[in-house]
Amino acid sequence: MTAFTGAFWQSGDTGFADATTTRIFNHRRPSRRPAAVLRAAHIADVMAGVKLAAAEGWQVAIRSGGHSWASWSLREDTLLIDLARFTGKSYDPDDGIVAVGPAARGGLDLDPYLAGHDRFFAVGHSPTVGLGGFLLQGGMGWNCRGWGWAAESIESMDVVTAAGELVRCSETENADLFWAARGSGPGFVGVVTEFRLRTRPRFRELTRSSYVYPAQLAPEVLAWYLTARHDLPPSVELAAVGCTPTGSDHPVLIIDAVSFDGGSASLAALGSCPVVGNALATTVAQPVAFASLNAEQLRGNPEHHRYFADNAFLTGSAAQLVPALVPAFTDLPTAKTFTVLGDFTPLMGRQRPDMALSVQTDLYFAAYVIGETSAEDARCRSWLDGAMQRVAPYSAGCYLGDSDFTVRPDRVMSDAAWSKFQRIRTARDPEGRFPGYLGAPVQ
Ligand SMILES: Cc1cc2nc3c(=O)[nH]c(=O)nc-3n(C[C@H](O)[C@H](O)[C@H](O)COP(=O)(O)OP(=O)(O)OC[C@H]3O[C@@H](n4cnc5c(N)ncnc54)[C@H](O)[C@@H]3O)c2cc1C
Repeated sequence: MTAFTGAFWQSGDTGFADATTTRIFNHRRPSRRPAAVLRAAHIADVMAGVKLAAAEGWQVAIRSGGHSWASWSLREDTLLIDLARFTGKSYDPDDGIVAVGPAARGGLDLDPYLAGHDRFFAVGHSPTVGLGGFLLQGGMGWNCRGWGWAAESIESMDVVTAAGELVRCSETENADLFWAARGSGPGFVGVVTEFRLRTRPRFRELTRSSYVYPAQLAPEVLAWYLTARHDLPPSVELAAVGCTPTGSDHPVLIIDAVSFDGGSASLAALGSCPVVGNALATTVAQPVAFASLNAEQLRGNPEHHRYFADNAFLTGSAAQLVPALVPAFTDLPTAKTFTVLGDFTPLMGRQRPDMALSVQTDLYFAAYVIGETSAEDARCRSWLDGAMQRVAPYSAGCYLGDSDFTVRPDRVMSDAAWSKFQRIRTARDPEGRFPGYLGAPVQ
């Protein structure tokens, strides 16, 4: 058997059971298990691991931050390469690029490091999300509405291929892999061992407005939101959120907006809701610290819970969408469940970079159902199925990051992108070393 510097367990070894699941965020875990786990210490381990998998007839599964809702890193008959130790960070002030390991957590590891250099990268909202899975899916980070997908800011990356070789990928080197890496998510054919990311100057001020409406007003508020959202500038991250405030039994609908250096003027359009006088609480253009936003995210996505998530990019008129959406904002299955209707208007009028991520509309619906015990699973599942069935007629496709194709397949790439992706997979991984999607997308 190959000698690794990192730890290696096979099924039956002491520690194998822990190694398979300990770093998985979602406590609703599948029964799938790998044949072996390699907690790689460095790139040579990853290369040797891919070669060992080939020799043993295993496929290769990968874990960076362990935050896939559907536990994609757990696949049968695989060597699970756990990149937990790949958390290095190195910023170069000459070109503004940070090199970072895929298991670094965006908000908890990368952001504080970049803050020390007065720089910013649009990491995932929940600070614990790993950069590996996040970036490969496209990455819906902070102010994705204005700045675009996080993957658009990847300068280059190092990848261990299906042949166990280390290559650099960028627009000019191994450009096919670079194209696929920005949006194919768990369909990607390689192990990314390092990303080099273009950072931006750190924002100077964050300004927030939020309007809390009683759930009964959801039809009026959502109808207004579907139009008013187009009037906010790209500096504003904007969402309608359905949730239940702590200590209350009643869901509320919050119109929540954070402006990155846009100041109060950028949020003015939010005051135009016809029922604004009936809001239960309002916060209008107040300064907010990034640390507070991170803390809110940690509270909203608690550890040790059982999650069900799904999503859809929507198209349709307000007359179609409002009735389809209202129940998902007024009737939540558990106290911790929340739903989001995010706006991406500014991204629609631009030329998106050519990359695997190729399905998007200006309206994103996602539901995060959060239970505490397995006894709640059936009710949570059934609620989410109902919510998604109502919006499915208006779905143009979904975002990989909040999807689970074993439950509800949807479209993830344009037809042209999907064909190109299949060609790259066949050429780069002829033996199918990387298992690809769990469940098949609709293509
Ligand atoms: C609490 C929470 C909040 C979230 N918030 C956001 C958000 O704001 N924005 C957003 O876009 N998404 C968000 N997500 C979704 C999240 O981005 C995805 O689940 C993503 O896959 C997590 O990346 P990870 O590395 O932590 O996951 P992992 O489970 O480790 O990885 C998922 C899969 O991605 C692939 N992969 C990961 N790393 C590599 C690598 N180095 N090389 C090759 N393949 C790899 C593998 O197929 C792997 O199984 C959130 C998820 C959670 C649980």
